[in-house]
Amino acid sequence: MKTNFQAQLELLKELQGIDLRLNEIINKLESLPERIAAARSAYDQVLSELETSRTELAGAEKSKRHEEMELSSATDHAKQREAKLYAIKTTKEYQAALKEIAETKKLNREREDRILALMEQVENLTKNITQLESDLADKEVAYRKEDEALKAEEAELTKSMESFEARRPAIISQLDIKVVRKYDHVRQRYPDALANVEKGVCQGCSMNVPPQLFNEMLRLTELKNCPSCHRLIYVIAEEGEQGPKE
Ligand SMILES: [Zn+2]
Repeated sequence: MKTNFQAQLELLKELQGIDLRLNEIINKLESLPERIAAARSAYDQVLSELETSRTELAGAEKSKRHEEMELSSATDHAKQREAKLYAIKTTKEYQAALKEIAETKKLNREREDRILALMEQVENLTKNITQLESDLADKEVAYRKEDEALKAEEAELTKSMESFEARRPAIISQLDIKVVRKYDHVRQRYPDALANVEKGVCQGCSMNVPPQLFNEMLRLTELKNCPSCHRLIYVIAEEGEQGPKE
């Protein structure tokens, strides 16, 4: 028959097993928003590129319309000037008019070059936008799928957390309140508040337990604290292991 101490130890081990699982679950749950955000970021990146390209396209189209209007009005103006050349009386005025017409034509050629460049830009941006729209649709599908998977994982984890939590009160009610308090106290610092001692070494902190304490522990009467890390420690007396000294 198990001694009271052994029974308490078994219960405490069970409680710690549950608490460690709960910690794991809570950590996973806490990492979910970050993972959902990461799944969304590829979609957001394409969306942002698409918005930039659309703004650039609107700007290029506006500039092109502006240049075309300027070209059209300057061309009309030059034609009118040419048509009225015959009416000019002096050589000086005639030459000035010719110079002005030539200047306007030169500016118009530059406008035409700019319009061509803008047409090319509009064409490239339009192609780019079509590609980005298709990418965005793909990314949205991938993101929605990932988002759904993560939401399902969240539901599963929550369910599992609730089921582990539901098991705690029954165990705690059977434990000595002092043991629970000690356990909770150490657990504020280490999730694995209860540690085994193997071959005289605390498995929580890997430090040696002094021989005298170790011998006391072999009597299996109460939980001790590791002198180095303060975890609650216990020892399982193995066959051939040095027994308590009388
Ligand atoms: Zn320790």
